[in-house]
Amino acid sequence: MVAKRPNTRKKSDFKSKKSNQKPAQNRTQQPKRSFPEKKVEIIDKTVYYKNNLTVLELSEQLHRPVSEVIKKLMFMRIMASQTQSVDRDTAEIITLDYGFEFKDEVMTDMSRYDELDIKDDPKDLVERPAVVTIMGHVDHGKTTLLDTIRHTRVVQSEAGGITQHIGAYQVLRNDKAITFIDTPGHAAFTEMRARGAKVTDIVVLVVAADDGVMPQTKEAIDHARASKCAIIVAVNKMDKPGANPDRVKQELADLGLLPDDWGGETPFCYISALKNTGVDELLDTIQLVAEMLELQANPKRSAIGTVIEAKLDKGRGPVATILIANGTLKIGDAFVAGNVYGKIRAMNDDLGRNIHKAKPGAAVEINGLSDVPMAGDPFMVFEDERQTKDIAQQRSDRQFNQDHNSKKTVTLEEFFKRAEGSVKELRLIIKADTQGSIEAFKGSIEKINIEGTSIDIVRTGVGAITDTDVTLAEASGAIIIGFDVQAPANVRDTATSKGVEIRDYRVIYEALDDIEAAMKGMLEPELQKIVIGEATVRETFPISKVGTVAGCMVTSGVIRRDASVKLIRNGKVVFEGKLASLKRFKDDVKEVKQGYDCGIMIENYNDVKIDDVIEASVMKEIEQNG
Ligand code: GDP
Repeated sequence: MVAKRPNTRKKSDFKSKKSNQKPAQNRTQQPKRSFPEKKVEIIDKTVYYKNNLTVLELSEQLHRPVSEVIKKLMFMRIMASQTQSVDRDTAEIITLDYGFEFKDEVMTDMSRYDELDIKDDPKDLVERPAVVTIMGHVDHGKTTLLDTIRHTRVVQSEAGGITQHIGAYQVLRNDKAITFIDTPGHAAFTEMRARGAKVTDIVVLVVAADDGVMPQTKEAIDHARASKCAIIVAVNKMDKPGANPDRVKQELADLGLLPDDWGGETPFCYISALKNTGVDELLDTIQLVAEMLELQANPKRSAIGTVIEAKLDKGRGPVATILIANGTLKIGDAFVAGNVYGKIRAMNDDLGRNIHKAKPGAAVEINGLSDVPMAGDPFMVFEDERQTKDIAQQRSDRQFNQDHNSKKTVTLEEFFKRAEGSVKELRLIIKADTQGSIEAFKGSIEKINIEGTSIDIVRTGVGAITDTDVTLAEASGAIIIGFDVQAPANVRDTATSKGVEIRDYRVIYEALDDIEAAMKGMLEPELQKIVIGEATVRETFPISKVGTVAGCMVTSGVIRRDASVKLIRNGKVVFEGKLASLKRFKDDVKEVKQGYDCGIMIENYNDVKIDDVIEASVMKEIEQNG
């Protein structure tokens, strides 16, 4: 039986105590971001001059009627209408005349929009729902708890109320909403945090009463603390005969989470997610903690937020779930999400309902994206739709450069140099198009016998290289070897950012040669193939006597005329060679960047098909880091 405790907690119970989770600090003035200061700091009496500043804009900055400014100009013998621009000297004279300070506008780099610090007018701030992530050791009941909360408490009576998985959902308790991130476990949380996104206010730490603190429990505490989230402990499986909540309390107290019912500062709830007992009390506790955190947002301004999930939907194209941190998101809003831009065409909530507006703290699935963003990408609405494509492109270029300049930590070249004890172990993850290739490669590799070295095959698998492979490679310090398989651009990006090396081979003996050379410390490291971009074939144009031109869209990085290319169909490499031509409209060009169309011909290959992927790479000198 679950110990049924009436919820006797009050806000004051927590308020008087200095929480060890430090939830309230640095949070009272939510939100952190706001628009460029010049827009809000009207009291500082400054005019910011920019090229082509119009009379109207000048009058607005001076907080004077435009007619008055026009008159002043007339006194200066300048006849100008409100839409005409004033030169810098004239603007300065008028500004000083009004006793304002005159400054040149410092252009904000809007491509770094996620770093902007925007202040809201305090009178516009209203309470917003808390955003909660459920964490804990595997099998302690995270998914069950999420399901129980969703199924019993989501407002199902409303029209069309079929819950949909969009990565987050909202429940109402005492007429107040709570937003739950619907991806249990740490991977999503860590991934987002690694990308600088902080979406969660409160972590509910689920600990099974019959199992106690386990390794992932500790990990969850570390993550929650590092991201300065408030922690609530849910001691789960209280219905089980072996439940021993006191043990859990003791173990957590030892880790610095002293239960509130022992006089500590961490709220503990005792629940059975399976039997749905104690869950209401947990929700009440979440609301109390949320109240204490004084979570606020300004629904009057345009939305900012974070991508929490994104995918390519067969029918709808790219879709993403955005958790709105501040502002209101509306149909028709133009936005940037990471390296992707778009305009909201449709939105739906977690009940699958079409909605026109979404408020702070809500999660909505949107479509109208130019491409699929990544979880953790910052999202922001821009008033000027024309800016969004450029901003997305600038971000994409910057990321590409960063990724490609980042120092690799696990590479075949560095293998021999990394002295790890007397025996050096080369760890490999092998992906191939068939099981046969894997077996053949494994068979040959086992024969390599070089003193002082050994090979550990961490994982093998048939099919494209995935994010999971990269994560495993990172965790185990392995190199990924791919035979005739694709690594999608986003996977390559992740690998680059994590410093994981992916080596592509078409034939086994080449891979064996490289590995043997690396193990002998003799690998020729000077040149390596670097993937620089990818394009997808949208149309094909057979041209007699010339061959087939592939009408492509560059989907990542850049395609260069001098690059070597691989043609990938359904994840398999079908041809390798060079470009015969690269054109934008009718012109031959040296390169085409992400987001642009181009015409590609491949030397000695004409059988290009729609949806084929063309991967471009160049030989690059690898710097040697000891
Ligand atoms: P997760 O890995 O943390 O998401 O754990 P799950 O939610 O998948 O739960 C693991 C197992 O524990 C499942 O078999 C659940 O049915 C069971 N379980 C979860 N919560 C409870 C509970 O409160 N009581 C009991 N008896 N079993 C539970």
